[in-house]
Amino acid sequence: MNNKGTSLLWFRADLRTVDNTALRHACLSGRPVIALYVATPMQWHQHDVAPIQVDFIQRRLLVLQQQLRELNIPLLIFEVGDYRSIPELITKLVQQYQISHVFCNKQDEWNEQQRDHDVGLALANMQVEFSIVDDSCAIAPGRVKTKQGEPFKVFTPFRREWLNVYHSLLPEAQPAPQAVVVHPVTASLLDQDDRSTPFTYPKKDSVLWPVEEDAIRQRLEAFCSEKVQLYHQHRDFPAIDGTSCLSPYLAIGALSARQCISMLRSSFPLCLEPSDQGAFCWLNELIWREFYRHLTEAYGKLSRNQPFHAWTSKIRWRDADEDLKCWQQGQTGFPIVDAAMRQLLATGWMHNRLRMIVASFLTKDLLIDWRAGEQWFMSHLIDGDFASNNGGWQWAASTGTDAQPYFRVFNPTLQGQRFDPTGDFIRIWIKELKDVPNKYIHTPHLWDGANTLDYPRPIVDHKLARLLAIESFKQAKALA
Ligand code: FAD
Repeated sequence: MNNKGTSLLWFRADLRTVDNTALRHACLSGRPVIALYVATPMQWHQHDVAPIQVDFIQRRLLVLQQQLRELNIPLLIFEVGDYRSIPELITKLVQQYQISHVFCNKQDEWNEQQRDHDVGLALANMQVEFSIVDDSCAIAPGRVKTKQGEPFKVFTPFRREWLNVYHSLLPEAQPAPQAVVVHPVTASLLDQDDRSTPFTYPKKDSVLWPVEEDAIRQRLEAFCSEKVQLYHQHRDFPAIDGTSCLSPYLAIGALSARQCISMLRSSFPLCLEPSDQGAFCWLNELIWREFYRHLTEAYGKLSRNQPFHAWTSKIRWRDADEDLKCWQQGQTGFPIVDAAMRQLLATGWMHNRLRMIVASFLTKDLLIDWRAGEQWFMSHLIDGDFASNNGGWQWAASTGTDAQPYFRVFNPTLQGQRFDPTGDFIRIWIKELKDVPNKYIHTPHLWDGANTLDYPRPIVDHKLARLLAIESFKQAKALA
């Protein structure tokens, strides 16, 4: 390895110093290290990003800047108008700071890979080394394959093989690296006050989500020691605080999947066995995250707005702007759907069971294209993550691999009755329904006092909508 010059560590969705593979490699190079983060507000990662996530990222970057400073690494933060100008920005930095090697963690999305390809070409022209390493999953995308060497398309066999690979590697989270050598170039950058450009992109306050290292670690520790044992019983009930709420940290890489699993294993050494119900159930969800990342890496079409199953592109989705608006604003007349959508608007967060219910409602009851929902989620969620979001939407819309079969349509009223039986969650978000008796909380239009409520009647008849959706899917399949 060439020991001259400086190493550049390019942060993307991996905003941490602990257990960061590319950072570790950069620090081992023996050269001084400069770190970089580039925000692209026009097309942030070329997918929508929620203003609350922008704020969250910006707050986390300030913590990261401080942590890196302790490692003698200055963090430069830029905002560029268009991601296509990133190669130009990096080549300028290469010249300015005598950079001889650029390191980064791999991103699995197709667009991000194209961007890295362009950066790689520009760096090769300047004889600068470019190392992209795996870090986004506990088991790198592409490592879990069928016996024929193909990507898995079904979750259960994927999980079986993932567990085999995991057992053979037992990847452990790594501590933050040692401080690196200081060079006049990095020393002058470290001496300067904060050089970061404040993002001009719209922001929404994310202060309810702490970004400091200790707070994140405590959240993980508390979940693994206090809640995970009952996770399998509590995880489907939105009125219960039964899940980890760690997805925002995993989405921006303030926390790694390896850190989560290492912590889980230290509390529950048998968590890799299904018999350890709560712990295995939580691990199972982390493996879903890995599954969707493996799929994103293997099938570029997923990042390019296409369904996994080509025949589903023949579905004639309804062009129904008014209905879409009712769904977005929580005005459908289905309380569990509306409460969830209002929570998303107000907080940037939604419980997994509710994501499944509202996604099914949009794509089946309203027969509106899943891409409208996918985009709405990405532009509002604090944990917006392309692979998990696309996977979740394609699952609910029955267009994805190993998705919900199209003829199995969630009944939003029954889902509400089952997972929010006394309407505790609904009453938090729909104040208009606070006095409705429990018996009618999921069907307020049937209550005697319905006329006094400032709340819409159901915008669709679920039974008819279900039949229409099944028919539309059948017709699309027949055309294929
Ligand atoms: P926990 O229940 O504590 O699970 C632990 C971790 O496992 C999560 O933090 C998450 O990283 C992962 N995980 C859990 N469930 C899933 C799942 N079904 N698929 C993939 N990973 C999972 N998750 C996102 O992180 N970002 C998204 O943009 C996103 N969009 C979704 C859209 C739809 C339509 C659906 C159905 C699901 C979506 N999910 C998304 C998955 C899931 O809803 C969230 O990860 C989960 O609600 C986060 O809460 P938690 O951290 O308390 O999860």
